[in-house]
Amino acid sequence: MALIVQKYGGTSVGSPERIKNVARKVANFQAQGHQVVVVVSAMSGETNRLIALAKEVATQPDPRELDVVVSTGEQVTIGLLCMALHDIGVKAKSYTGGQVRILTDSAHTKARILNIDEAPVKKDLDEGNVVVVAGFQGVDENGNITTLGRGGSDTTGVALAAALKADECQIYTDVDGVYTTDPRIVPEARKLDAITFEEMLELASLGSKVLQIRSVEFAGKYKVKLRVLSSFQEGEGTLITVEEDQKMEQPVISGIAFNRDEAKLTVLGVPDKPGIAYQILGPIADANVDVDMIIQNVGHDGTTDFSFTVSRGDLDKAVKILEGVKDHIGARAISSDKTMAKVSVVGMGMRSHPGVASKMFRTLAEEGINIQMISTSEIKISVAIEEKYLELAVRVLHKAFGLDAAA
Ligand code: ADP
Ligand code: ASP
Ligand code: MG
Repeated sequence: MALIVQKYGGTSVGSPERIKNVARKVANFQAQGHQVVVVVSAMSGETNRLIALAKEVATQPDPRELDVVVSTGEQVTIGLLCMALHDIGVKAKSYTGGQVRILTDSAHTKARILNIDEAPVKKDLDEGNVVVVAGFQGVDENGNITTLGRGGSDTTGVALAAALKADECQIYTDVDGVYTTDPRIVPEARKLDAITFEEMLELASLGSKVLQIRSVEFAGKYKVKLRVLSSFQEGEGTLITVEEDQKMEQPVISGIAFNRDEAKLTVLGVPDKPGIAYQILGPIADANVDVDMIIQNVGHDGTTDFSFTVSRGDLDKAVKILEGVKDHIGARAISSDKTMAKVSVVGMGMRSHPGVASKMFRTLAEEGINIQMISTSEIKISVAIEEKYLELAVRVLHKAFGLDAAA
């Protein structure tokens, strides 16, 4: 008998029929003798609808109140799923994040889980219940409702699996596993049987939204056996593993991630002297804006241009800050571009294979795609390009690195 945590995403619970389908799947697992904890997301589109509603009554909704509103989506699903389970004769109990005491910090809309009191869940399981928990939400030490950031139900699932020392955490979604890139963009993408935590973490942080980054961090830290599967078809899915694949020939590149949500800022004609990067980026960091890629050119006439990227939602804020410090640092002008995108190739094999960067750059050059910024780590290379070339770039790189499925 195993203890399994299963998380079902928005599409998987997107209609009454689909909720009944999930109930049948859960019932099957329980009938095999397993204890099952289920984490569910809001029905697809519901979280977006709630956010839009909030924005209709306030230009900048208060984060605490926004959490009160958006957390309701998941509350509907847990109740409906339990009713569907009861209807087919399965004992089940629903819990909101607060009820099952998923304690988080107080960072509304992006809270982090600090602790889970697993004892009541264990008791319910031992009494033969399926326990259904609302994903994406928690409660801070003062009893305020918090949410964990978009895609946060993945993290609820993994955190519960860690707290309960579950045998496996299964993430059920609308694709049958982790692919070499988003199969919606590249139909030739291949499903991976396994991928390492390190690679999955890079893919997730570089834009592959199939798993929320924090869920992968959590699973790596607490050694949770994590698998991504389809709720619509049978299969083994993709296992996220600690070990590198022991195959003789490791592919150099495991996957390609991309992110449309990028914007570039350039500070033109700043004096080329010590302290400039600090004077530009210090106030940006103080305003809690994350800076991603940075490039500083060497100037000829004693001045230089300094460019960096931020997420698109932070662009206006960042421009305002730079306009404020422009005169003080002696810059000529500030320019910005909000139609940037980032494409990244990821793979452990890169460590032992030089030449990945040159192949990536050549492939993009052959399509006439201009690279505006580059950043690298041991297992990834990212480039910033114009957003209009994004899909083309992903497709040609996918092919160039031999990732396309055989026709
Ligand atoms: P859920 O609602 O179940 O959490 P998400 O929409 O958050 O589902 O995540 C699943 C989606 O992630 C897929 O439909 C797919 O378009 C997208 N995706 C992006 N990158 C990948 C990838 N490398 N492998 C599989 N799916 C990916
Ligand atoms: N419902 C939330 C969202 O849409 C959380 C999740 O689905 O994981 O982001
Ligand atoms: Mg998701």
